[in-house]
Amino acid sequence: MTIDYIIVGQGISGTFLSWELMKRGKRVLVIDEPKNNSASKVASGVINPVTGRRVVRTWEIETLMPYAVEAYTRFGEELGTGLIRQCNILDFHATPQMKMAFAERLHEEPFLSTPTNENDYYQWFHPAFGVTEINPCWLIQLHSLLNSWRNELRKKDYLVEENFDITNCSIQPEKIIYKDIIAQKIIFCDGTVGFDNPYFKLLPYARNKGQALIAAIPDLPTTHIFKQGINIVPWQDGLFWIGSSYEWDFTTLAPSTDFQEKVVSQLKQWLKLPFTVVDHIAGERPANMERRPFVGFHPIMPSVGILNGMGTKGCSLAPYFAHQLTQYLVEGATIHPQADVQRFRKILSR
Ligand SMILES: Cc1cc2nc3c(=O)[nH]c(=O)nc-3n(C[C@H](O)[C@H](O)[C@H](O)COP(=O)(O)OP(=O)(O)OC[C@H]3O[C@@H](n4cnc5c(N)ncnc54)[C@H](O)[C@@H]3O)c2cc1C
Repeated sequence: MTIDYIIVGQGISGTFLSWELMKRGKRVLVIDEPKNNSASKVASGVINPVTGRRVVRTWEIETLMPYAVEAYTRFGEELGTGLIRQCNILDFHATPQMKMAFAERLHEEPFLSTPTNENDYYQWFHPAFGVTEINPCWLIQLHSLLNSWRNELRKKDYLVEENFDITNCSIQPEKIIYKDIIAQKIIFCDGTVGFDNPYFKLLPYARNKGQALIAAIPDLPTTHIFKQGINIVPWQDGLFWIGSSYEWDFTTLAPSTDFQEKVVSQLKQWLKLPFTVVDHIAGERPANMERRPFVGFHPIMPSVGILNGMGTKGCSLAPYFAHQLTQYLVEGATIHPQADVQRFRKILSR
């Protein structure tokens, strides 16, 4: 079988890349080993334009967010399922210092405002040092996206559900041969598994573990994401996703009792409503030291590409950079220089 591209991985990155390439008439084959704890499966699916203690805008958000909103809307229409909705964050300030940090930014940052009905929220939460609304934020139905697109790929016979073993693959500058498949190029969208990929293992990756509790909170509305150190995010099946940790130093990917105890205690102090924890999930973010994605082709082996390094922001980065990579392949367009993996030309040429 002769095709255009092999794509390894069907998280958010491989999903958007295969969708974009297929729209351009390219024949792809997606190879994905199903795993319940991949980053895309455990993520809450939030697009938040401002982050951190200093409440600063995230990189390129003015471009990434509108693109993502349009892409998820269109993708959802094609799949016949809603994939995105606006769901603003209500940030409850735990200390007077936090209140001040937000107050300083309120005047200069249009994404921030003070809700007029702040007192309404105190029927569900214990009083805080004020509330700031981040508007707009977006919530993605990641499981619907991944499952619906997987079904489409399966129907077209464009999906192989197995572990891709690079040692069984002949990689040549002009072509890729994997079992009975001949492709022009192979593109790795393999998340943290790709940290060991022989072509890209010298990139400055950083492993980051994140955990979340899944809970039923029957009386809490699903209109907003509620934040106070932890986020309470409306999730699937009427449940809430509550997290997360950002762990740089860990020996196992298993959920930890420490995290569960800490979050349950935080919830009890903040939330007035009863809740029941029904699950505890954990996964690994494909993060990196630069906090910029890795997009493009290997400087020495031009048949090998990458769409990875999405870190904590896959929901906004993956749609845009899957599109740029497609434009690069189909029209020879340029890739954002801070995302193009060619910035590591020297390191990757070793
Ligand atoms: C707890 C947590 C919360 C998060 N919350 C958010 C959030 O709210 N918003 C946001 O934007 N981001 C969030 N993120 C980050 C986001 O999840 C990632 O940036 C994104 O999912 C990365 O997607 P990916 O497709 O690049 O990688 P992955 O999701 O890891 O997908 C890689 C896929 O490749 C497959 N694969 C890998 N190697 C092979 C192989 N050799 N053979 C076959 N298949 C293979 C894997 O099985 C997997 O399906 C969160 C992450 C975590 C851990």
